[in-house]
Amino acid sequence: MKTGFTAAQLQNPRLKEADGILRSCVHCGFCTATCPTYVLTGDERDSPRGRIYMIQEMLEKGGPPAPETVHHVDRCLSCLGCMTTCPSGVHYAHLVDQARAHIETHHKRPLHERVLRSILAKVLVHPTRMRLALQLAKMARPFAKIFPPQLQAMLALAPAHVPAAQSFTGEHKATVKTMRVALLTGCAQSVLDPEINAATLRLLTRLGVEVVVPKGAGCCGSLSHHLGRQDEAHRLAKANVKAWRDANVDHVIINTSGCGTTVKDYAHAIGETGLSFLDVSELLTRLALPALSPKNVKVAYHSACSLQHGQKLKTEPQALLTRAGFTLTPIAEAHMCCGSAGTYNILQPQMASQLGARKRENILRAKPDVIAAGNIGCLTQIALGLNVPVLHSIELLDWAYGGPEPAKLKGLGK
Ligand code: SF4
Ligand code: SF4
Repeated sequence: MKTGFTAAQLQNPRLKEADGILRSCVHCGFCTATCPTYVLTGDERDSPRGRIYMIQEMLEKGGPPAPETVHHVDRCLSCLGCMTTCPSGVHYAHLVDQARAHIETHHKRPLHERVLRSILAKVLVHPTRMRLALQLAKMARPFAKIFPPQLQAMLALAPAHVPAAQSFTGEHKATVKTMRVALLTGCAQSVLDPEINAATLRLLTRLGVEVVVPKGAGCCGSLSHHLGRQDEAHRLAKANVKAWRDANVDHVIINTSGCGTTVKDYAHAIGETGLSFLDVSELLTRLALPALSPKNVKVAYHSACSLQHGQKLKTEPQALLTRAGFTLTPIAEAHMCCGSAGTYNILQPQMASQLGARKRENILRAKPDVIAAGNIGCLTQIALGLNVPVLHSIELLDWAYGGPEPAKLKGLGK
């Protein structure tokens, strides 16, 4: 597509990059069919193509964005389904990142939105603050109806029981060491479901992988990034890179795929890191685990957008579960987002709850014994109101390869 940036604008490397991305879009509209927000509303402005037009106009014009543009960019999940569908290789992710950063700098949101976004950026990235917020949410839940919709969504997502705090910081030795990795434990994940990290550490160390969780590493910056707070996101990324490099590891392993997509894009955000980043399923695939005999457990595997679209890992977790003896049952609309998308289910509760209900319906139609996924956001969103156990796939793999039976399975048996 044609663009109209001035020569002076193109001196700015960010706008130069946006210009290249915009020019690669041919307006074919293939991406609209798989865009969850367009599927729900049928409004071109809620489609990737519509958003690309509006982002172009905003960036070329500069200054404060039109309220309509803010509204429709805010409604984008950053699920990146459009990038999987696009035949022209349009890097929508980097374009919408720029749009969010531009909006954050040039648009004054209403006070309640500014307060909420600031609270999210300050609370969710600190496990101690998040734990306290969850305890408060438990107390506030009976009065949920008096709060605005976004706070109601936050209260609905808070677990009825907040698990006891567990610290994984430090060295986790393997009996026979074959490699050394650093694990990103995920700030929200470590509070909402510490058992995911416990299972990861048990399984990896049993397989001869020495794991370190370095003291200086923390939030990956994903939440700040998606809120358009690029400086904050880059500061967090640089702190992590320093901690991981100092730890002298072969790979950095990520077991929450929303964080993984952000971490794997650090080179674009802050420059070359010299580190190798792998989702835990990629590492386990390399370790060539033995095939186990079939178990009588039917698993519906939800492939998180950050895994299938963001990291292009479309088969690895499923293959590992099958190899471990679980029976995978296919689910309809497997390419569609569950509506979690970082803080999306708090900031855009209506659209998120429609997508969540649609995902749960599709999953339940497959009649699984267990639902598995590789991202804490999806696990929390999908579990809302369900009686079927919802687990991280690493918990099932740890169990299959000699770890304890996950408490959530309540004696489902092998
Ligand atoms: S599929 Fe790709 S090229 Fe076609 S409209 Fe969408 S982003 Fe543009
Ligand atoms: S990232 Fe997802 S919600 Fe956003 S435009 Fe692309 S497909 Fe639609």
